Amino acid sequence: MPIDPVLLVHGGAWAIPDDMVEAHLNGVRNAVAAGWRMLNRGGSALDAVEEAVVIMEDDETFDAGRGSFLNRDGKVQLDALIMDGATLRAGGVGCVERLRNPVRAARKILSESSHLYFVAEGAERFAAQHGIRLCKNEDLIISREVERLREFQAHAAEQKPDLFAPTISHDTVGAVALDRDGNIAAATSTGGTLNKAPGRLGDSSLIGCGCFADNKTAAASTTGWGEPIMKLVLAKWAADRVAAGNLPEWVAAEAINYLHARVNGHGGIILLDSRGRFGIAHNTPRMAWALQTVKEEGSGISRND
Ligand code: ASP
Repeated sequence: MPIDPVLLVHGGAWAIPDDMVEAHLNGVRNAVAAGWRMLNRGGSALDAVEEAVVIMEDDETFDAGRGSFLNRDGKVQLDALIMDGATLRAGGVGCVERLRNPVRAARKILSESSHLYFVAEGAERFAAQHGIRLCKNEDLIISREVERLREFQAHAAEQKPDLFAPTISHDTVGAVALDRDGNIAAATSTGGTLNKAPGRLGDSSLIGCGCFADNKTAAASTTGWGEPIMKLVLAKWAADRVAAGNLPEWVAAEAINYLHARVNGHGGIILLDSRGRFGIAHNTPRMAWALQTVKEEGSGISRND
């Protein structure tokens, strides 16, 4: 029997200010629409998550692709991972500075490399050799982010980091999908955290931390303060609990409780199994998400949506 596809995306978990709510909701809805077009015409879960993430990388609202946060040196440094739940093949890039759509490079690695993860110039060289045009780092920088970094650095000495402050935003993007063949996939893409040290890698592009997919367990994408998420290998932690027979809806909530209780972490997760059961949870004031199934479509941004 053909399986009903499902697509779920997020656009970062943090204290999204009121005047940015609409842009976040539009962004995740556009992403889900693009990914759903793929799934609906019989495309794979892998194609759908790639497409959905590309839309959000191209949207300057999010901390992914152009418009990402700047690192301490004023540069954009991007990380992304994509993973196929059917084969467990994955492709990841870290600390790339000249790719508009790091998830496209990650997909090329998944499909065409015997390696799984490339960083920095090596990742860019691989992408260029596989037909992806490199850009300049300046092409990824927008004035809003130059100003945000300037503000942050000007007040860095007197500021205690407040993880919910609008300046400490976590606008990473991610998607999980189930296709008609019953395969699941996940992708996550990020510019990381504001004012990060050059070379810092967060959870987003690390297998099992910010992204994971296995048909036998679940597909997950996380967002939030990366270091605590990495310590708990949170995406894999959640997928394993689904495999043990727990409902994704409950596991998502449990994962975020665990993140807070164990390492004082803040963030969000989207989770989907190969039966189409899903979960959405975050302990930040807001996380933009959007969902499409054959029977329902929805989106939300607050904890009670
Ligand atoms: N998790 C990302 C990181 O720490 C940030 C985010 O989710 O926005 O790099």
